[in-house]
Amino acid sequence: MAETDRAGADAVLLPGELPPRRRIFTNRNLRMGSISAIGFDMDHTLAVYNVENFSRLCFEMALERLVSDRGYPESILTVPWQPDAAIRGLVVDKKLGNLLKIDGHGHITRARHGNQFLDRDERRGAYPRGRTRIGTPRYRVFDTLFDLPEGSLYTVLVEQVARGDLVLRVSFRRLYDDIRETVDTLHADGTLKARITADLGTYFIRDPDLVPTLERFQAAGKRLFLLTNSEVEYTGAVMQHLVGGAPGAWEGLFDLIVCAAGKPGFFLERGPGQAVQPDLHPLLPARRANAYVGGDCFHLERLLDASGDGILYFGDHTYGDILRSKKSVGWRTAMIVPEIETEVANLTPLRGAWQELNALEEQLEDLVEARDQARSAGAAHAATLALLERRLGDALGRRARLQRQLRAVFNPYWESLFREGRAPSRFGQQIMEFACIYTSRVSNFLGYPADKFFSRPLEVLPHERWALPET
Ligand code: IMP
Ligand code: MG
Repeated sequence: MAETDRAGADAVLLPGELPPRRRIFTNRNLRMGSISAIGFDMDHTLAVYNVENFSRLCFEMALERLVSDRGYPESILTVPWQPDAAIRGLVVDKKLGNLLKIDGHGHITRARHGNQFLDRDERRGAYPRGRTRIGTPRYRVFDTLFDLPEGSLYTVLVEQVARGDLVLRVSFRRLYDDIRETVDTLHADGTLKARITADLGTYFIRDPDLVPTLERFQAAGKRLFLLTNSEVEYTGAVMQHLVGGAPGAWEGLFDLIVCAAGKPGFFLERGPGQAVQPDLHPLLPARRANAYVGGDCFHLERLLDASGDGILYFGDHTYGDILRSKKSVGWRTAMIVPEIETEVANLTPLRGAWQELNALEEQLEDLVEARDQARSAGAAHAATLALLERRLGDALGRRARLQRQLRAVFNPYWESLFREGRAPSRFGQQIMEFACIYTSRVSNFLGYPADKFFSRPLEVLPHERWALPET
């Protein structure tokens, strides 16, 4: 991380002075002074993965398992890994073998089958408007960064089938379920975690501001807890790597630790869970903090003497962390979206192009309207019509150039994670609806006062836009 990126414990910068990719964004007002307990998910929240290294490992291990355990031909072992095949928020259509991008209004805007994108007519034929029910078993949503290897596996194997290089004896649905079950087993049986814990430096990015951020929260009188679906051993190994110090000393950062929490079920009534036996696990000795396996949020609230909107929970999983904790128990939520860093950093130098494109879109609407009027006005307006046609042609050419320039900084297949054309993507829409605040990493809080009042920006209706200054 560049030195100028570091907020530093003593130097509280004005939000405008922080680089945009390290700012905290507000959807709903949040008064930090009213928060008494702050909780953190571990994986992809406190623990920042090197997503590329992790995804490649998971991809390669899953291919091996598909061959050894599920009878897939050895030829698949040489299929190339596609690092850009998937982004979060994409939806798998298991029936047709497609990956879908959906906008915030529920329209399917891109559909990819292997390496081919369906054209507009094919897409409309396959997915008639208003008929796609994402909540049904036909579909699966990529809610976390852990899901990305599956997108790559599905894309490359469907492409093999499309080219005739792989003869699939099962349906596209079965192919996806085989991939899903294989990846699930790799996570659950410990083989993936054994590889990761043997080489933590390859799979995690240490953040020097993480511990100072947690200490700042503690100094402000907040009770801190760790609430993760990861098992005790893995949690100990990862936290030890991130925090450093004497073995197990990291747990002093927390008042309460819950491992193998089974979120989202953790937000339903299930009982207290099991206390971790002290001194059994060297890297999570359960001496300084209360540590549990499983249990439920009601037990946690009793132990912390905090509840509902007095608790702020940081997580990365749109559904399991953010939606469920907010809907079931009314916790306030902070969503960690690591992708903001690259997307905002890439977009920053193109700010002028983006503003120009927005202005051009509005001009185009006016030009089209004027051209249509000139057309219907008949031969007397032929010269005006010709002029307007020329201007329209120029504007369309300029728009295409700006769009190409902006596209080049996003994912080459899916473009922006957060938007689709002029609308938010489904993922972007969910962040706005479910998360009270969101940011790229936990340590961004170091740039703000501990009792900060995060206030939501002014919401502007289309009819009010004319009155506001250009942004
Ligand atoms: P959290 O984000 O800290 O709550 O924990 C995520 C945990 O879920 C990690 O231990 C992952 O290995 C695990 N995990 C992620 N995807 C899967 C899966 O598909 N099956 C089983 N465990 C998973
Ligand atoms: Mg997580």
